[in-house]
Amino acid sequence: MDSKLIEADCLIIGCGLSGSVIARFLAEELDKRVVIWERRNHIAGNMYDFKDSHGILVHKYGPHAFHTKKEYLYDYINRFGDWNPFYLTCLAKIDGIFTPSPFNFQTIDDFYLPEEAKEIKDHLLLAYPDRQRATILELFENSDIVIKNFAKFLFEKDYRPYTAKQWGIDPSKLDTSILKRVPIFFSYDREYFDDPYQIIPQESYTSIFHSILNHNNIRVELEVEALDYLSVSPGGNEMLLNGNDIDIPIIYTGALDELFQGSGESLPYRSLLFDWKYEEIESFQDAPVVAYPQAEGFTRITEYKKLPVQLVHGTTYAIEYPVDYKVAENEPYYPVLTEQSQADYAKYKSFAEKIRNFYFCGRLADYKYYNMDQTLERALELCQKLKSEII
Ligand SMILES: Cc1cc2nc3c(=O)[nH]c(=O)nc-3n(C[C@H](O)[C@H](O)[C@H](O)COP(=O)(O)OP(=O)(O)OC[C@H]3O[C@@H](n4cnc5c(N)ncnc54)[C@H](O)[C@@H]3O)c2cc1C
Repeated sequence: MDSKLIEADCLIIGCGLSGSVIARFLAEELDKRVVIWERRNHIAGNMYDFKDSHGILVHKYGPHAFHTKKEYLYDYINRFGDWNPFYLTCLAKIDGIFTPSPFNFQTIDDFYLPEEAKEIKDHLLLAYPDRQRATILELFENSDIVIKNFAKFLFEKDYRPYTAKQWGIDPSKLDTSILKRVPIFFSYDREYFDDPYQIIPQESYTSIFHSILNHNNIRVELEVEALDYLSVSPGGNEMLLNGNDIDIPIIYTGALDELFQGSGESLPYRSLLFDWKYEEIESFQDAPVVAYPQAEGFTRITEYKKLPVQLVHGTTYAIEYPVDYKVAENEPYYPVLTEQSQADYAKYKSFAEKIRNFYFCGRLADYKYYNMDQTLERALELCQKLKSEII
């Protein structure tokens, strides 16, 4: 094993949102010297964005729009740069028709004759009088046959083929939390999210991270693979640095199965492959993101000059192909949440909780499908724990 010295009070693994927010807290609130090790050659984790060779801001790891219901998370993120309101709109191409995604009343008009469409809308409004949306799972569970048939239509045309590509497994094997992510709006509303705070950075996500990390007590070291230096002691209750005891707190935002290599099953993740294209045209598609449930191989296309709106000539877009995750070959984007994978994760979690002075959080370490606001909330919760436990 290579060796590496640390001159800091705390070590953080991973410079994504989780690691950066915790670093800022330790540096600012607890006056700790923090070093962050990041294996990639850039900060910002999966939120990293940059200007491509055509001057268009693109998101390297897929389209990101920040949204939350919680004012304190909105206030927190606004401390670190200017944000603009941004209401994401998406389309889905089904049977050759571009319909709003998430589905809404326009979708019903797009696929049914006017009388049938009216019947479905009436039944939905009657069944959910005080609601603006429901999930496809709820519609399935409804005893009204008109509603059930509509849910079946959406499931067969969109959800089943999309899920098969996105997750590489049959929808029945997935945790219902995934099915619950697919809403249907009972109106002509076209906003993708219904959260009161929907924003995007005025400059870039990466500039927000520069601002979070801009503190004298924080040092970021890029292209450092933490597991080249860190390991778990044979007894499982200490972290070792270069094979020796380490007496500073470690906050780990990587995957737990990687940390405990060889102690059990690898946790399944789904990865993505982006096919980047540039064309000398003003517009490629009518929304920033278009889903293609029925297309061969790919799931969606993101046109970046629309996320946020950029007044530039030409357009860059990325075609998204879900693929299996292979360590060292691609990125672990989405945890594949099945009964088995969650049981395997629970074992790693119980190992990790036994290690002294060791903390973990984030979408990888928690093995959860967190949106940015959930990631932020979890990181801020861990900060409070650190405040009471780190001297
Ligand atoms: C395609 C896609 C689209 C998304 N779109 C949205 C969206 O529109 N809205 C939204 O709210 N959320 C979205 N998200 C979720 C959002 O990206 C996450 O909530 C957030 O980025 C998670 O931050 P994190 O710090 O926990 O993880 P990450 O961003 O993954 O950061 C972890 C970092 O740790 C590093 N690391 C791991 N192990 C090691 C190691 N051993 N040594 C050194 N470094 C290590 C990794 O390289 C990585 O940089 C999307 C996610 C994906 C994948």
